[in-house]
Amino acid sequence: MDSLWTMTAQPPQFSDRKQTMHADVAVIGGGMAGILCAYFLAREGVDCLVLEAERVCGGVSANTTAKLTFQHGLFCDTLLRRFGKERAQMFLASQREALSQYQTLCSEIDCDHSQTSSGVYALHDRAAIEREVRAFEALGIDARFEPSLPIPLSIAGAVCVDGQAQFHPLKFAWALAKDLRIRENTRALALTDDGVITSDGPVRAKSVIVATHFPFPRWRGAYFLKMHQERSYVLALDNAADAGGMYVDMEKEGLSFRNHGTALLLGGLSHRTGVQSAGWEPLCGFAKEHYPAAREVCRWATQDCITLDAVPYIGRLSKRTPNVYVAAGFNKWGMSSSMAAAIILRDLLTGRGSPYAALYDPSRSIMRAQLFANAAHSTLGLLTPTVPRCGHLGCALKYNKQEHTWDCPCHGSRYSQRGEVAEGPAQKKIHRK
Ligand SMILES: Cc1cc2nc3c(=O)[nH]c(=O)nc-3n(C[C@H](O)[C@H](O)[C@H](O)COP(=O)(O)OP(=O)(O)OC[C@H]3O[C@@H](n4cnc5c(N)ncnc54)[C@H](O)[C@@H]3O)c2cc1C
Repeated sequence: MDSLWTMTAQPPQFSDRKQTMHADVAVIGGGMAGILCAYFLAREGVDCLVLEAERVCGGVSANTTAKLTFQHGLFCDTLLRRFGKERAQMFLASQREALSQYQTLCSEIDCDHSQTSSGVYALHDRAAIEREVRAFEALGIDARFEPSLPIPLSIAGAVCVDGQAQFHPLKFAWALAKDLRIRENTRALALTDDGVITSDGPVRAKSVIVATHFPFPRWRGAYFLKMHQERSYVLALDNAADAGGMYVDMEKEGLSFRNHGTALLLGGLSHRTGVQSAGWEPLCGFAKEHYPAAREVCRWATQDCITLDAVPYIGRLSKRTPNVYVAAGFNKWGMSSSMAAAIILRDLLTGRGSPYAALYDPSRSIMRAQLFANAAHSTLGLLTPTVPRCGHLGCALKYNKQEHTWDCPCHGSRYSQRGEVAEGPAQKKIHRK
């Protein structure tokens, strides 16, 4: 399934076989996070080599909706309550710095970058929207309450912020990637004391950044407990009314809207990967009812990693791996957070230190309610006696009738009908016994 982005941009060719198998920093994974990390370090004169298992930006970053915003759902009120004012301000500062870096870089790259406003709406819970407006106020950010939006939904209210942006993620990332040292079709298999073992042989590196979406090492850092994946669906529609901004429902099962050129991207219906869903059907029903003259250009589905506390994991992979760093757990906001990761990891790896390091530290406390939900899903998946089983930790896979794949409800790995890995963390073919 091609996304609108893959249909409208040309991937560059990399002369990857010429790349030597050593570097100061090996960046594993050539998605938005890996490319930005390598780009920022290379700009500092650090010798970086990107190791990509398949093609650069062929993963989730090719299937995003590419809104560039610090408005990560109804997050301000949650952040204030969960972390207090100082940390909430820190989070916002890191995300705003990330957006301003995008603005600078995009001014030099032809990537359809445009400024717009964003909004989070509630169908019923006006009080939650009002709380969010007050939380923005408390954090010193201009935000406004809107009673209605130019989308065909009757809402209880929306909290909107100006000065956000949208872009074409592949035009952007592929332009940056052209000048980097990259080996495509090179899968990292294991970390070693002096680098990485890959499918093409060992790579020596002083430091390693794991930017493989879900970290590929199975046990280090306990990401199998700290993250799960949620999948959602997108339709690109021609001849649908312009949404006039980027909007998302406060509920994860709700809808999302943004335009790209003449197309409206209608998305949403998020659910835990591996759980049965109606796929694109509700989106098609909504489009038929509210945009009857629209034509479907393409459709796709994708998933992202969800952390325990809505803050990504950026920093040392684990306490025991001083030279291995991670950028993961973007909670469906990985465009701005990939940039935040690139800034933070550049500063940590060049010895400057980052004011944001403690907030994003992957080794922070895991005592959150979601931890118990993740543990319960894993236990159930492991105890379910059916085959086939996941090559990651061995959970029972569920058949996804919409996409004809085998999906893992524990950590979100997905397999084709032939048993090949379609999405990680699994790195090996399906277990049939
Ligand atoms: C439906 C949806 C809509 C979204 N919309 C937005 C949005 O509007 N705004 C926003 O900010 N965010 C959005 N996101 C989130 C954002 O798209 C992701 O967080 C981001 O693209 C993740 O980038 P990544 O580099 O971590 O992962 P990826 O792009 O998946 O890159 C990881 C790369 O690692 C490679 N890899 C994996 N294992 C190995 C290995 N062992 N060795 C070498 N390479 C390996 C893969 O092949 C892949 O290329 C959305 C997410 C979803 C699901």
